[in-house]
Amino acid sequence: MTAMQGKNEQYYKAYLTYNRISRRALLRGVFHPAEQATQIREFRLAPRPPFAAAEDLFLAACNGCGACVAACPYNLIRISGQKAMLELEYAACDLCGKCAESCSTHALHPAFKKDTQLRPHFSEHCLLKQNQFCAVCQEICPQQAISADLQLNHEVCNGCGECKLACFVSAIQLI
Ligand code: SF4
Ligand code: SF4
Repeated sequence: MTAMQGKNEQYYKAYLTYNRISRRALLRGVFHPAEQATQIREFRLAPRPPFAAAEDLFLAACNGCGACVAACPYNLIRISGQKAMLELEYAACDLCGKCAESCSTHALHPAFKKDTQLRPHFSEHCLLKQNQFCAVCQEICPQQAISADLQLNHEVCNGCGECKLACFVSAIQLI
């Protein structure tokens, strides 16, 4: 068994003990016919609310009930394809955790990472890239994750989206 497989197995065993979803449903979501390996997909098929389980576990557990949609004070969550997805178009997420608290299947759970896993990308419209002065995104970032030369501290950023909403030339995309 590779170290990664061991890590993944530990992860989903812990998840199973924590959750009421059946082992069969979880394995259906986690193991793909094409890959016999015990890999848990980490990359997101769509932006998810913070506190989401790893993508495969999330897909297996989320039943699209909409409790998180109703719980979010900023209407940031919608259901697409019977799964919750996050949209930070008109407001930022303050990571309040109400979505995670409302989730009965534990697809979202307060014990999971307090992070939307989205990160800002700066386009050529950014004034700094045009040798003009601007510090709007740096100043608004609650995590102080953006440096004066637009380097992002990926570990410190939690994907809240404040920078994207503050940028008045729409130079920031969250990916
Ligand atoms: S953490 Fe709070 S603001 Fe963010 S998506 Fe969940 S309910 Fe909405
Ligand atoms: S850089 Fe700061 S403001 Fe932008 S998403 Fe990350 S934490 Fe939020």
